[in-house]
Amino acid sequence: MPSNKKPSKLESVSRALRTLGAGNRTLLRSSDEQELLREMCRVITEQGGYRLACVGYTQNDENRSIQWMECAGMDKEQLQALVPSLIASDGRTPFGTAIRTGKPSVARRVFTNPAFAAPAYARLMELAKAKGYASTAAFPLQLEGEILGAIVIAAADPEGFDDEELELLNELADDLAYGIANLRMQIKHRKAQEAIAHLAYHDSLTDLPNRTYLHKQLEEAIQLAKRQHHPLALLYFEVGQFHEINEILGHRSGDQLIQQLAQRLAEAAKPGEFLARIGEAAFALLLPITGADGAAREAQRFLEVLHEPVEISGLTIDAPVAAGIALFPGHGTDAEVLLRRANAAVDRAKPARGRYAFYRGQEQENARRLRLVGELQRAIERNELRLYCQPKVAIPSRQLSGAETLVRWEHPLHGSIDTGEFIKLAEQAALITPLTTWVLEAAFRQGYVWHEAGLHRPLSVNLSVHDLRDSRLIERIQGLFSTWGLPPELIQFEITESALMEDPKTGLDTLTRLKELGVELYIDDYGTGYSSLSYLQKLPVDWIKIDQSFVMPMVESGDSALIVRSTIELGHNLGLRVVAEGVESQALWDQLAAWGCDVAQGFFVGKPLPTDTFDDWETQWLRAQT
Ligand code: C2E
Ligand code: CA
Ligand code: CA
Repeated sequence: MPSNKKPSKLESVSRALRTLGAGNRTLLRSSDEQELLREMCRVITEQGGYRLACVGYTQNDENRSIQWMECAGMDKEQLQALVPSLIASDGRTPFGTAIRTGKPSVARRVFTNPAFAAPAYARLMELAKAKGYASTAAFPLQLEGEILGAIVIAAADPEGFDDEELELLNELADDLAYGIANLRMQIKHRKAQEAIAHLAYHDSLTDLPNRTYLHKQLEEAIQLAKRQHHPLALLYFEVGQFHEINEILGHRSGDQLIQQLAQRLAEAAKPGEFLARIGEAAFALLLPITGADGAAREAQRFLEVLHEPVEISGLTIDAPVAAGIALFPGHGTDAEVLLRRANAAVDRAKPARGRYAFYRGQEQENARRLRLVGELQRAIERNELRLYCQPKVAIPSRQLSGAETLVRWEHPLHGSIDTGEFIKLAEQAALITPLTTWVLEAAFRQGYVWHEAGLHRPLSVNLSVHDLRDSRLIERIQGLFSTWGLPPELIQFEITESALMEDPKTGLDTLTRLKELGVELYIDDYGTGYSSLSYLQKLPVDWIKIDQSFVMPMVESGDSALIVRSTIELGHNLGLRVVAEGVESQALWDQLAAWGCDVAQGFFVGKPLPTDTFDDWETQWLRAQT
């Protein structure tokens, strides 16, 4: 209980100790500066039994104004009005002295102290009398060598604050200063962390959230969507030709373009939609609780916003933006997959400006293709390919006239891969040369085996458009003829009409050089490449192979029948022999026979077979003819 009685020495030390202990607990508990000051003042008066405790910070302005931060035992505003600055209080109060000297300062018997007789202190003295502050002490708050302010404590006892008490309370003031410094440091630290976090989660050019942030946000949105059973959409906007724009106009203009587009997107985004810049020329927009319809509408709306040309340093630039959409859960159930798929969908929207497209699974396709390409390369190296042969039979005599080599890939994991597909992949991935080389070697080896066995079975090898451009192809084939010692009539080549038409001159040159080896040549898939009659006349070929797409429907389709029939006639008029492929039935065989077609190939005759079962096929076939 506060009392006017002079406390004993023990009492004064013990109240100071009590205050110190409670003050330290306060220090540990407080998490912000204002709260710390308020609690400290409260503890000093309530636990320590002092009459007054006030903390004032001094400003470094002309008047050395004081900001009274917290007060217990009197009204803070009243004190502020009374002692607004050091100048106003003449600086001789313990507070002023503590600030000036950096040391504790005490004033005892204040009512009779001549130092406070001056008119400047009149109102202060009135207050002291009214409240019974007979002695006051002030303790500086030093922060990093600077004096931030002081804490004033007043006691009812006119002889209060002996040295020991002063020392203990000064310790409390030091602890308080330490606490303030600590809290301020925490704030600085938090701000630095926030700045770092901002940097880590934002794009510096546009200040939009970056890819990392989007990823985090998307993951959270997905979790929520899973719990609440609703869909969400991810839109991926890509600025096309950005590198060209950068190159032509410079990087600064490129940056400005991105900034302007970012601003438009940000303005168009509705509350709840999360926009991010996730790549050099790519933005993503996360739409919570949105299905296909809503996503399409939003994509349309944003693309319209982006459609307006952009003005950059006096130039009007048309930035071709396209959008891809992926939906949770239909297209993916995790953030990474959705992002990849929205990105993949952009490719379907491109190159048309202002278009959007939904994910359609082409990414899976691409990934699979990519994987197959890698595996195909290994398959070639590790000899995982197989050479199959499909018989060709002369229609009038029903005798075997030869066989077409068809490559097969028995994938160790996925089983047999469609030949048409991996041939196309090989062509796209520049793997056709090793593949053709493999087939050539296999065909020559097989040709040698049959030749040695006294069998006359010419083998035809398919060549791709890339093979026609391969300058070493002829050399390689020559080398194989030398190696195996095969007569030229046992190896033939099939080249599709469309491959020839891709580069008619190179096609003609290569065929001419092949022909010089003495081999027979086929125009494969005839009818699908639209070669002119004059070109056809120049080609040094021996056979025309009518594509199965005309042959197979020829019984029902008058058009196909006409094409097949006239191709047979044309071939014969040019002095060529004609093969029909895709002969699947007796009816087709009969029709072709009636039209004078020379050779048939197809399931009716025989399917492509592993070379070691070819003998069995031939035995069966010959038996069936008798
Ligand atoms: P292609 O040269 O037109 O080969 C004929 C294709 O028709 C083969 O398909 C064959 O299995 C199929 N076929 C044969 N008779 C019939 C029939 O009666 N009905 C039906 N429905 N189909 C029949 P395959 O083996 O899948 O080959 C597809 C294509 O891949 C080939 O078409 C050829 O262009 C290419 N190809 C195959 N092997 C090779 C190769 O070793 N090198 C190159 N460059 N291309 C090859
Ligand atoms: Ca062929
Ligand atoms: Ca064909």
